[in-house]
Amino acid sequence: MTKRYIVQTMGCQMNVHDSRRIEEVLRASGWQATDEATLADLVIFNTCSIREKAEHKLMSALGTVRPLKDARKDVVIAVAGCVAQQEGENLLKKARFVDVVLGPDNIPELPALVEHARSGGAPIARTVFDVHAPAFLDATPDPTRLEVNAFVTVMKGCDERCTYCVVPHTRGPERYRSADEIVREVGSMVDGGVREVTLLGQTVNSWFEPRGETQSSAEPSSEPPRWAGSVVETSQFAELLRRIAREVPALARLRYTSPHPRHLTDALIEAHAELGVLSDHLHLPVQSGSDRVLKRMLRRYTRGLYLERIAKLREAVPALTLSTDVIVGFPGETDEDFEETLSLVRAAGFTAAFAFKYSPRPFTPALKLGDDVPEAVKDERLQRLFAVVGEQQRAHLDGLVGSRQRVLVEGPSRDGVRFQGRTHRNEIVHIAGPEGVDLTGQLVDVTVEHANNHSLMGLAEGVVPAAPAPRRKRLPVLGGAAGGAA
Ligand code: SAM
Ligand code: SF4
Repeated sequence: MTKRYIVQTMGCQMNVHDSRRIEEVLRASGWQATDEATLADLVIFNTCSIREKAEHKLMSALGTVRPLKDARKDVVIAVAGCVAQQEGENLLKKARFVDVVLGPDNIPELPALVEHARSGGAPIARTVFDVHAPAFLDATPDPTRLEVNAFVTVMKGCDERCTYCVVPHTRGPERYRSADEIVREVGSMVDGGVREVTLLGQTVNSWFEPRGETQSSAEPSSEPPRWAGSVVETSQFAELLRRIAREVPALARLRYTSPHPRHLTDALIEAHAELGVLSDHLHLPVQSGSDRVLKRMLRRYTRGLYLERIAKLREAVPALTLSTDVIVGFPGETDEDFEETLSLVRAAGFTAAFAFKYSPRPFTPALKLGDDVPEAVKDERLQRLFAVVGEQQRAHLDGLVGSRQRVLVEGPSRDGVRFQGRTHRNEIVHIAGPEGVDLTGQLVDVTVEHANNHSLMGLAEGVVPAAPAPRRKRLPVLGGAAGGAA
C-alpha cells in the first residue's frame, strides 16, 4: 500500500531547503507526497525557533493534527528543524502524541525512525550534530517538478554568537561543504532545468574549502581569532563564486544568502564587479545602526564598517540594490539608538527590509539583559522603520517605470492571467505576455509600465535565448585596507 507524507515548512530558506531533502529521503524509501493531511500516514512539521512566535506556531499546528492522531493511531507525527533540535526529548513530553523528533543533521535517519514508530516503537528523539564527520545531503530533485530556482547549501551552523540568536544552539558549529560537491550540485540542478541558484549558509560568505573530511569549526584550526572587529580575510567565497560561474556557464543567475558584513571582503566585492551571473542585489543583514547596540549584539562590526563596505560594493556595481534584516527593541535600545538605525537605513538606501521585534530566546547570552523595551515602543519603531523602507522601495520602483528589465519568470502570477518573475536585482515583476505561451523558466525582456508598492507591472517584449551570462568588464583591483570604523 502507498505510504503518504505531508511536510509543513515554517521559517527561513534553510528550512525550505531542508524540507526538500526530507522529501527526497522519504521518496527514496517509497513514500509519496500528498497535499491532504487527512490522507497522510506521516505528518512532518519542519520548524523554526528564531522568535517565540515561531515556536507558538508549531504548538498551534500540532493542535490541528491532534484529532487526526486520535482517529488513526497509525499516523506518525514528526517534528524536525530548529524547535526539534532545541527541545529534543522535552518536546516528546510537551506533546505526547509526537512520535519522532528530528534534528537538522539527522534527516537521513527519518525513514528508519518512522518505521520504528509504525511498528509500535516508543517515541524517539534524534538530535545529534555531525560535528566530527560533517555531511551534506546531495539534492536529488523530482524530475517531474519544474524548478526555476533552487537552494544549494555551502555551509551549516554558525560560530558568530550574536547575543540574541538561538541559531548557534539549534544548528551547531560551522561546517563547510567542499567546492567539488557544491559545483557538482549546482551543475546537476542546471542540467535538470534550474535557472537560478541561491547559495545558502548562516554566514554564507565566510565559506572556505574544508581541509579534510572531518574539519569543522568545532576543532582547533589555524584561522585568526573570530572576535576581531574588522573584515575577516579567511573566506574563499569569492573563488567559489568564480568557480561556479566558470564551470556552470549555463546558470542564468547566482544569488547567496545570508552574508555577514564582516566577511564582505575586497575579493568578494571584486567578484561582484566581474561576474555577470551574480545578482545585482544583496541581502546584507545589519540588525542595528547604533554602535552601542551592535556591540551588545556582538555583531563584530561598526556602523562605519558596514557603510564603508556597501559604499565599495556600490562603487563596483552601481546598479546594486540592498535589503537587510533589522531587530528593533533589543534590550537597552534607546530612542537615540533607534534614530541611528533609521539614519543608517536612509544612508544605505535599502529597498527592502525584514524587521523584527526583539524576542528573548532560550540559551542566548542576551537573556541576561532582560527585555526592557515595552511592546508598544517596539511596535511603533517597527512601523516607523517600515514606513522609511516603504518610501525608499516605492521611489526605487517608480524610477524603473519606462525602463527595460530582464526578468527570470518563476511561474504564473496569483491573478492567473500574468506571469511573475524577478529582475537581475530582485524586483518582482508581473508580466503580460503572449496568450497561450508558458514563459515559466524563461529570461524575458520586459518594458516596465507601472509600479505598485512592492512590485512592478510590465509587458513582455521578447524571450532571451538560453546562453551563458556575459562577463562584466573587469574593474581595476579595489584598493585600500579592509575594515576601519568611521
Ligand atoms: N545568519 C543571518 C544573519 O546573520 O543575519 C540570519 C539568521 S536569522 C535566521 C534571520 C534574522 O532573524 C536575523 O537576521 C535577525 O534579524 C532575526 N532574529 C534572530 N534572532 C532574533 C531574536 N531573538 N529576536 C528577533 N529577531 C531575531
Ligand atoms: Fe544568528 Fe548571528 Fe549566526 Fe546570523 S550570524 S545565525 S544572527 S548568530
